[in-house]
Amino acid sequence: MKVVDDYFGCDVFGRQAMQKYLPHSVFKIMCDVMDNGKELPNEIADVVANAMKDWAVEKGATHFTHWFQPMTGITAEKHDAFINPTGPTSVISEFRGKELIKGEPDASSFPSGGLRATFEARGYTAWDPTSFAFVKEKTLYIPTLFLSYDGSSLDKKTPLLRSIQALNKAAVRLLHVMGFSDINKINTTVGPEQEYFLVDEEMYRQRLDLIITGRTLFGSAPVKGQELDDHYFGNIDERVKAYMEEVDEELWRLGVYAKTEHKEVAPCQFELAPVFSAGNVAGDQNQLMMEVLQRVAHHHGLVCLLHEKPFDGVNGSGKHNNWSIVADTGENLLEPGDDPKDNIRFLTILAAIVKGVDEYQDLLRISVATAGNDHRLGANEAPPAIISIYLGEELNAIIRSLISGKDEHNTVNTDLQLGITALPKISRDTTDRNRTSPFAFTGNKFEFRMLGSSLNISCPNTILNTIVAEEMTQFAAELECVSQEKVQEANIELIKRTFKEHQRILYSGNGYSEEWRQEALKRGLSELKTTADALPHYTEPRYLEMFGRHKVYTANELHARQNILLMGYYQVIHIEAQTMAYMLRKQIIPAVLDYEAKLASIIQTKKEAGIKFTMENKYLTEINDALELIEQHLEELEELIQKSFTDSKEAADFAAQKLLPLMDAIRKLSDVIEARIPRDVWPMPDYNDLLFRAID
Ligand code: ADP
Ligand code: MG
Repeated sequence: MKVVDDYFGCDVFGRQAMQKYLPHSVFKIMCDVMDNGKELPNEIADVVANAMKDWAVEKGATHFTHWFQPMTGITAEKHDAFINPTGPTSVISEFRGKELIKGEPDASSFPSGGLRATFEARGYTAWDPTSFAFVKEKTLYIPTLFLSYDGSSLDKKTPLLRSIQALNKAAVRLLHVMGFSDINKINTTVGPEQEYFLVDEEMYRQRLDLIITGRTLFGSAPVKGQELDDHYFGNIDERVKAYMEEVDEELWRLGVYAKTEHKEVAPCQFELAPVFSAGNVAGDQNQLMMEVLQRVAHHHGLVCLLHEKPFDGVNGSGKHNNWSIVADTGENLLEPGDDPKDNIRFLTILAAIVKGVDEYQDLLRISVATAGNDHRLGANEAPPAIISIYLGEELNAIIRSLISGKDEHNTVNTDLQLGITALPKISRDTTDRNRTSPFAFTGNKFEFRMLGSSLNISCPNTILNTIVAEEMTQFAAELECVSQEKVQEANIELIKRTFKEHQRILYSGNGYSEEWRQEALKRGLSELKTTADALPHYTEPRYLEMFGRHKVYTANELHARQNILLMGYYQVIHIEAQTMAYMLRKQIIPAVLDYEAKLASIIQTKKEAGIKFTMENKYLTEINDALELIEQHLEELEELIQKSFTDSKEAADFAAQKLLPLMDAIRKLSDVIEARIPRDVWPMPDYNDLLFRAID
């Protein structure tokens, strides 16, 4: 039997491998590079590259690739062999420092949102030594950034790294003025909980909509849904179990701490949660996790769907992004401490987060905006498209006390006006967690629950880091203006004022309810329902300024992202519309016409025999009425599909306002027909087949 300890991380060029393969002096320099962001001296790069190659070749690697995360949201790779010719018939295996540090994929087809002209289309990749290289399928993967020649980021990773730097700078500055001089560096920690669906591969192959769009564009309700809640945490069936075991093993080998897995609420839905890691590493590992989940599924005759809403009528899939800040002292800065002094720190950081989330609601909403996720948000299975924060009863009571000056926190009997020693002790929240909040404090971390299952987590974390950096910078600047003996007093005032001014973002009730929507709108919170509504706000001047101040995005980079995302949204929906039209013309309408002919001939026969044909007539009329309407809508859809756009906002609005409603109407009609006709006449696996016949 294989023991996990023996092989965990064995395919990763981590510290252990580095220590073994690098000369000690070089290893120490590498640690400095990884831990303190020092630049790698050129002469060292060759040594590291060579060691990395030796290690990888021993693992069976023949190729290397710079692995990067272009703005498409998925990862990209281009493989090069290690071999170099030394003569007409001889080769040597070689990997040089400059190949490690910089790559030039001919990657001109990736979206750049106008950051590159095609004549200078090439971007370059630059090694990110803060995330480990690994071997997978005979290839050495080197995590890299993807940049244009003027240094603009063409990827999702560069802004994330910049935002972690910005947060580090702001947090250390704030902590120092507060007197925590022992902290000289912080990092973020992130643990993303990944949801997914599994479907039988053979059935999947019979559904063009699943193959092309990742979701079912048709499908009348199955005989059973998720009403019994019998799938959630249920027994895992053998095929799925074998799949999960293989996924775990692959991920463990790659140093990903895959830990918890269970069945989710919807039939065929599952979740895999890793142990959290450093923010940047967590982003890479989540991409790997998604890739492994999808690839390994095929070994078991399964397909893993990462789409946010593969099936109507049952829950879709999300990704909870657990986020916290850890100091170089090892302390989790979102851990309420026993010591009142630590609680001031905790409350200050909490205040910065509350203020940031309130002031930049729209940015957080934008960070999770995709065509797929629009199907979930606000649909009673995921948080609404309105941002609010849940802190738990205990913290709420403390905050109310702070604001009012009266002790409402029943576990302490102190006068809060007295200052630091009177700040109440905060214990880890043991109350029932609110599952309906988009942004919930869960004891020692925040859980951002609006992410869709297929999302690259870099963007939401970039936003989160930057807005907190912004608020911490403001706090630091304010506290730096008072004399040292007054800092504590000023700090407490700052906490009180901040909570008072940003109370509106705090909400503990049912986030899925319509009452909350009404209440939220009264409070002035923003609701950006669709991606097309949300994205135009991305480049508001105040956001451009804020991102510029923290050197996270330049104005050009932000405009580029906005364009790509809006156009991408349109394209996704456009492809769905085309798939829908194709399936109707080639599969559904012909099948329904055949069945109509059958009914008509029965009617004819019965008529001739002089017997009743009321039922057949009713069936035929119902089906035919729906089909007539489908044809009308379909002709309109086919016309709309022809339209082309150069303006991305216009395209996105068109998709949201014209294509989607029409597609909805068509689907409803088709589902009515599907429910009326025999199973074997329907030309593809239906919801009962997909959700219940293959996988338990
Ligand atoms: P629950 O399942 O109740 O939401 P868990 O403690 O099991 O809470 O954590 C869920 C996820 O949160 C896991 O992926 C875990 O690794 C992650 N997590 C736990 N602590 C932290 C932290 N300090 N920072 C970031 N993520 C964390
Ligand atoms: Mg959770």
